[in-house]
Amino acid sequence: MCSGRVDLAFVLRAFSNGMDGVFIGGCRLNECNYVTHGNYHALNMVLLCRKIMEHIGLNPERLRIEFMSAGEGILFAEVMSEFGNKVKQLGPLGKGEGIDKNELKSKLAEITKLIPYIKMVKNEKLGSRLQNIEEYEKLFTSDEIYKLFSEVISYYIDPDKCQACMICLKKCPVEAIAGGKNQIHVIDQEKCIKCGTCFEACPPRFGAVKKISGEPVPPPIPEEERTIIRKSKKK
Ligand code: SF4
Ligand code: SF4
Repeated sequence: MCSGRVDLAFVLRAFSNGMDGVFIGGCRLNECNYVTHGNYHALNMVLLCRKIMEHIGLNPERLRIEFMSAGEGILFAEVMSEFGNKVKQLGPLGKGEGIDKNELKSKLAEITKLIPYIKMVKNEKLGSRLQNIEEYEKLFTSDEIYKLFSEVISYYIDPDKCQACMICLKKCPVEAIAGGKNQIHVIDQEKCIKCGTCFEACPPRFGAVKKISGEPVPPPIPEEERTIIRKSKKK
């Protein structure tokens, strides 16, 4: 119904499924019938996605967004024809850019896994309403995208501080935390979407969840060492 519903995940999924180009058609900017103005969200998402594509070596022209009214059939046909020709000219996805098929697949999978994190970090810009083409160019920069991926935050539970209160485990939206009663909790880094909920949820008096950036995440404590022996039981 609305171009604002087109998530970054949809676009990356299309490319992961081998589509050579993605076109998003939205209503004209400032002519939205709703207060949400979802077409601005779509535009910002496309600007971000195009920079991400550049970052992983894909030609950003494979992704296009245009705004037009439902009555502009001729314009729609012209734009689609032009885009179709452009994509043909660019060649098959990845091959046209000289990227190995498996390498591209793993890059797209890596970015897809980070979507919740990307959306959280860039939330403010994704919600902005740009007024002119110059602003479009400046919304996301290549340096910013490089920084976004080189400084990705990971979360880690300090085994010496975890009190097995299970709060983080219950709040994690993707069941990435393993633990139980009297068991030191651990985060499965493969499942973690870096939402930061566990960091916020861990009671300050424990402060067991750590934010890590720019350094490797320590390996999880072995399963046989996760049982917490409470002082009262030690006696
Ligand atoms: S950062 Fe989010 S997804 Fe990752 S373990 Fe914590 S709550 Fe779960
Ligand atoms: S909320 Fe903190 S103390 Fe409680 S189980 Fe999670 S990491 Fe451990």
